[in-house]
Amino acid sequence: MIKKFIRKILGVKDDGRDPTQAVILGPDEHKIDPRLVSSNAIKVTQTLQEAGFEAFVVGGAVRDLLLGVKPKDFDIATNATPEQVKRLFRRAFIIGRRFQIVHVMFGQDLLEVTTFRGNGSDNAPKDEHGRVLRDNNFGPQHEDAARRDFTINAMYYDPATQTVLDYHGGIEDIRAKLLRIIGMPEARYREDPVRMLRVVRFAAKLGFTIEPTTRAPIPVMAPLIDNVPAARVFDEMLKLLLSGHALACLKELRSAGLHHGLLPLLDVVLEQPIGMKFVTLALESTDSRVKAGKGVSPGFLFASLLWHQVLEKWNAYRAAGEAPIPALHLAADDVLDTQTENLALQRRIATDMRDIWAMQPRFERRTGKAPFKLLEHPRFRAGYDFLLLRCESGELPGEIGEWWTAFYDAEGGEREQLLAAANSRGEAGRSGEPAKRKRAPRRGPRKGGGGEGAPAPQGGGEE
Ligand code: ATP
Ligand code: MG
Repeated sequence: MIKKFIRKILGVKDDGRDPTQAVILGPDEHKIDPRLVSSNAIKVTQTLQEAGFEAFVVGGAVRDLLLGVKPKDFDIATNATPEQVKRLFRRAFIIGRRFQIVHVMFGQDLLEVTTFRGNGSDNAPKDEHGRVLRDNNFGPQHEDAARRDFTINAMYYDPATQTVLDYHGGIEDIRAKLLRIIGMPEARYREDPVRMLRVVRFAAKLGFTIEPTTRAPIPVMAPLIDNVPAARVFDEMLKLLLSGHALACLKELRSAGLHHGLLPLLDVVLEQPIGMKFVTLALESTDSRVKAGKGVSPGFLFASLLWHQVLEKWNAYRAAGEAPIPALHLAADDVLDTQTENLALQRRIATDMRDIWAMQPRFERRTGKAPFKLLEHPRFRAGYDFLLLRCESGELPGEIGEWWTAFYDAEGGEREQLLAAANSRGEAGRSGEPAKRKRAPRRGPRKGGGGEGAPAPQGGGEE
């Protein structure tokens, strides 16, 4: 019992493994395909090694290599200091506040090179909740390994010798598909609460199970995320939502008890029954785009996630007598104000969101020149994709989406025919929206009733 306690204090795992000694695996054991290692990563480790330093591929890239997946980026760990690294490469920049790192560039390719961190974090500056604010203590490799978050993220690969160094049983955990935090979970989450979001993201992305002691403190410690700078939480949320496994991540967040009262966005997304179908469809389409290697716009994604909140407020403003277009702008302002404050939504993303929302009423006007003008909107495609989601979720009649698809694909005179057909069926100005369609008195310079003739560009273009 005492022995077990001492081991725990020393950080020695109960299996008796000494965390200062690495298990070294050769190519026959780790079976990494060297063709998956980027040539630039090899260039960086080789240059550092030739200058007399130790250098390894580290972290997520090793994890992915062991899983037989081509890593999307390569991080390098070395015992050279940031200054020493910088001197060895033509295009290298020291960046970072909490952690200094060096960005080494080869054309468009960027590699992050970090110096082994020592375990001097006991003395590192922390906030009143124990969150480490800055940490640039360097140390030996085994200390660097112990400072990493999960066992599967704490292995080192040397492309020159093709060996993997594993200090914390990462190989076994990869094989068992387990996410296990290194050290005492509570202490590690306190130092950096973002680790709670990371574990959820990795579990969903890799299809791994969160080991029970790693998981247990999360619901209790979740509120610590409130103290993390909003921009960092936002970055992590973006990674989560653009991981190609957003739906799975959100389910996992909910089951880990991480969604409530934590991220205003997730509260909205996960606790609104009416918007669920819409959000699910939006995330499914995002996931499949990411998996197909297609680009995803964060603006579109967040516009989808928050649409039902906008819709609710839009209806409320209209019911209070506001004309449709100004009402929509007021609703967008309300939603964006809250989210910008809490989530550090970048201005560019917020502008995209507003553009997409502001276009929506214009899709319901199918008279005169209005649809032609809308086609010329610089973000028409995003607005149209958004319209299709609204139709698919049942918010609007499918006919509107089908009509726009035909109109979009049509050429020359066919468009006029489509317009005429819609007008003769009386669908031209139909709003599929369930809300009241009471016409409020017009206000301001804009025209009411859905935005025909409103000066383009609308929405974000006006900012
Ligand atoms: P991804 O596939 O998302 O890039 P990753 O594991 O490479 O996954 P990064 O954010 O790129 O994640 O971090 C690189 C490595 O740095 C991690 O594998 C881990 O070893 C370490 N690391 C990153 N963030 C933390 C953290 N918050 N606490 C401890 N170690 C971390
Ligand atoms: Mg990475």
